[in-house]
Amino acid sequence: MRGAADERLGEARERAPRALVGEVDGDDDGHPQRDAEDRQTDLPRVRGEVSRALEAARKQGRIGKGVDAIVYVPTAPEEQWLPLFEAKGEALLTTLFNVSGVRLKQRAPEGVAVSYESQDIPGLAVEVVPARALGWNKCERCWTWSPRVGEDATHPTLCERCVPVVRAMRP
Ligand SMILES: [Zn+2]
Repeated sequence: MRGAADERLGEARERAPRALVGEVDGDDDGHPQRDAEDRQTDLPRVRGEVSRALEAARKQGRIGKGVDAIVYVPTAPEEQWLPLFEAKGEALLTTLFNVSGVRLKQRAPEGVAVSYESQDIPGLAVEVVPARALGWNKCERCWTWSPRVGEDATHPTLCERCVPVVRAMRP
């Protein structure tokens, strides 16, 4: 999950214990994170557009941070962008965008989304939905939202990603 840690660095610095921040300073072979981003010019462009969509939702008071949101991408240009998104997958895009979920080729539920049409990437539509509006809950360990918080009776405040981690630490 090194990629996840890297992408969350911005937020991690604000909120995470020192140990986590130390861990993500530079990647395995000593290159700074910047190099990895320079090699992939497309994804930062998309991330910029998603950031603008999140900012629009924030200005409307619908979300606080990006992590409070689920990002729907109902349409994207088929030739260049959609194959890239599908190759990355929803889970990785969730990490890349620093949100709580990504849904490709799906429309957001009626009435809860803030819609954004990309100018930079014509044909790309982004819909931002507050996780709360979907009935998701916030995990108290990683601060992302999930529909599965509460499933585990022993750890009712944790998400499905954190439950096994906490279990492994305190068997
Ligand atoms: Zn969690």
